[in-house]
Amino acid sequence: NKVEMTKYLNKPTVTLDGHRVELAANIGTPEDVKGAIENGSEGIGLYRTEFLYMGRDSFPSEEEQYEAYKSVLDCMKNRPTVIRTLDCGGDKELPYFKLPDEMNPYLGLRAIRLSLEMQDMFRTQLRALLRASVHGNLKIMFPMIATLDEFRKAKAILIQEKEQLISKGIAVSESIEIGMMVEVPSAAVIADHFAKEADFLSIGTNDLIQYTLAADRMNERVSYLYQPYHPAILRLVKNVIDAAHQQGKWVGMCGQMAEDDIAIPILLALGLDEFSMSASSILKARSRISQLSKSKWEGHLSHIMSLSTAEEVEHFMKEIIGKRN
Ligand code: PEP
Ligand code: MG
Repeated sequence: NKVEMTKYLNKPTVTLDGHRVELAANIGTPEDVKGAIENGSEGIGLYRTEFLYMGRDSFPSEEEQYEAYKSVLDCMKNRPTVIRTLDCGGDKELPYFKLPDEMNPYLGLRAIRLSLEMQDMFRTQLRALLRASVHGNLKIMFPMIATLDEFRKAKAILIQEKEQLISKGIAVSESIEIGMMVEVPSAAVIADHFAKEADFLSIGTNDLIQYTLAADRMNERVSYLYQPYHPAILRLVKNVIDAAHQQGKWVGMCGQMAEDDIAIPILLALGLDEFSMSASSILKARSRISQLSKSKWEGHLSHIMSLSTAEEVEHFMKEIIGKRN
């Protein structure tokens, strides 16, 4: 209940056995920051900037974007703030910019693919982000990365824009982390290579599940295939976390799975560093994590990872959770 939850408001997120993780919020607009802070968020794990581009009749200018990013960073007061570059295409359309019809929009020109093709638009967003970076603890994240080449290209453009700003005497933070979403199975499989070049990885399970199970996340008729506990998903998630840690990088999750009651103990045992979710779920997750022992769940991990279906995983988790601690 609400009163019970408020005791978790301005507390760090620590397990029974003293392991600390970060609980962050997913936001869609700068106005959402207030709610994130009121709900005890320790950072922003995903700012979906596409909402800045939607519901209007032209692209947002660099200045408009700068104001939006600055306002988020100002309000977050140096707490980690991950801002994702434009992720449109798929189901997210821009009314003023008609993309050619595609047979499979989710497999088409979307997210980073579009940004790399429309470089002027991409560079405008990056300049706005870079200029805003001096106002807080900014981390820039690229969506839908499938190949190393895409990540390298996006990062190179970012660095080019940064150097140009600096040469013009415009201040840019020296400590911006550059990371990526892991939401395409190819990236999850070769996470070891990405972890060498990215400062952090954030697992986007909404798309990762859709692409791994080959089931449209919006299609009711195949919703039975949307299985967060599918062993393939658990193995991919484990692979990404291990790869990041091998390189000394932090790894988060900003898909729905990060706030899933059954998934949380597994993610904790796997060593996930940051859980990013809707603001309204944060206190509940903190209360829950505070009552879990990481080492106890680590003890269950090899069994969980050996199970062969999502049903088996769910069944086992419910059985252990039911026994309490
Ligand atoms: C995801 O794919 O898990 C994700 C967080 O991004 P979005 O839901 O915006 O596609
Ligand atoms: Mg996604």
